[in-house]
Amino acid sequence: MDDRLLERTAGLAADFLGSLAERPVGQPVDLPALRGALGGRLPDEPLPPLEVIEALARDADAGLVASAGPRYFGFVVGGGLPAALAADWLASAWDQNAALYALSPAAAVVEEVVEGWLLDLFDLPAGTSAGLSTGATMANFTALAAARHRLLADAGWDAERQGLFGAPDLPIVVGDEAHVTIFVSLQMLGLGRDRVHRVATDEQGRMRPDDLAATLARIGRPAIVSAQAGNVNTGAFDPLLEIGQAVRENGGWLHVDGAFGLWAAASPVRRHLVEGLALADSWTTDAHKWLNVPYDSGIVLVRDRAAHRAAMTLGAAYYVETAGVERDAYNYVAESSRRARGFALYAALRSLGRRGIADLVDRGSDLARRMASSLAREPGVTVLNDVVINQVLVRFGDDDDLTRAVIERVQADGTLWLGGTIWQGLGAMRISVSGWRTTEADVDRCADVIVRCAREAGLRG
Ligand SMILES: *Cc1c(COP(=O)(O)O)cnc(C)c1O
Repeated sequence: MDDRLLERTAGLAADFLGSLAERPVGQPVDLPALRGALGGRLPDEPLPPLEVIEALARDADAGLVASAGPRYFGFVVGGGLPAALAADWLASAWDQNAALYALSPAAAVVEEVVEGWLLDLFDLPAGTSAGLSTGATMANFTALAAARHRLLADAGWDAERQGLFGAPDLPIVVGDEAHVTIFVSLQMLGLGRDRVHRVATDEQGRMRPDDLAATLARIGRPAIVSAQAGNVNTGAFDPLLEIGQAVRENGGWLHVDGAFGLWAAASPVRRHLVEGLALADSWTTDAHKWLNVPYDSGIVLVRDRAAHRAAMTLGAAYYVETAGVERDAYNYVAESSRRARGFALYAALRSLGRRGIADLVDRGSDLARRMASSLAREPGVTVLNDVVINQVLVRFGDDDDLTRAVIERVQADGTLWLGGTIWQGLGAMRISVSGWRTTEADVDRCADVIVRCAREAGLRG
């Protein structure tokens, strides 16, 4: 291979990363121009790789979002930590297939190591198994599949062999604020989006344990209960200790969706938010959110390793099975061949260490609070949530239209990017501080821009 190709590519990547601090965040896109630049007929003849890469970098640029940059507060999105990004490049260069130990012993061992580190970091029961998925969607899917296996097996039914037609009833309980990906997982698992029992939530979006207890009493048999650590709007945590005790009494399975919030467990000062975490049976998180690993980096953790494997294994005869001594990763996610995504996660955990992970969580949470208090000083601005971690909901002049107008002005300004949401019937600006690059100076600069946009949009104190 031409060495210049990878060197030039590294240069292009460095140029992009170097531009993150000042390039407009979320620039207006000329869609026809973008399609024109990238599109056209499939070429008949080969092109030199260097030419393809130069053209790709040039033509994609206008459609790139600086979501890895310091002033991106949309959705819940981190940037790539340096060590994780570099390890991700190696994973591509090595081109390992992480399906089987036989295909990549290095990938398998790195996954084992990461599994141990995560249990230690989150203080989860020994023996818990980890699967590395594309994202939290598939992590939720995997955890709920393991739950389905265990509860139906307890009722004398083999869901994997027999399917669900004629199976015993399997009640599902979710909080009213459950993430959409819980419902899509239930949809894909044949458990149905609409046959769930919904539990009421409080003003921060936390599951109400009294309503859960009443719901489980009414159901009167073991249920799958899906709780949440980190509400996508408020960042709030379901009271896992009370929920865990209720599910223990019920004999069911507790799943915790902690796509970004679970990382709070790594911070000594925020650990109390997940009190009772170890009472659960399965957990979801994303390393590509708050840990700032490049995509794709979802994580599923399951206390009952046998249920996890039973729900996911392919067990094909020609797959060189390794007698359970070595790790075959296809036993833990709904995939066979896949990229060795564990390398980037490994590098992130190793480069930050326990203290660095706690700092990342605490810094993002402190910056969110700083943003909230700067904005709340402006007359007519209301912060709607308790800022417990990295999420802030803001409303302008108690007015949906004004709030929407402020968000549009901020997006058009280009200094930062954020989106909107509806929180308990009220339109709100949604700010998530998840990126490792964000500093106090970024937050102060962005708070000034938001206030200016609010005044221009007609905010009166
Ligand atoms: C982001 C998120 C998901 C989905 O994660 P993906 O990685 O996008 O699949 C699920 N649950 C919660 C609470 C989330 O914040």
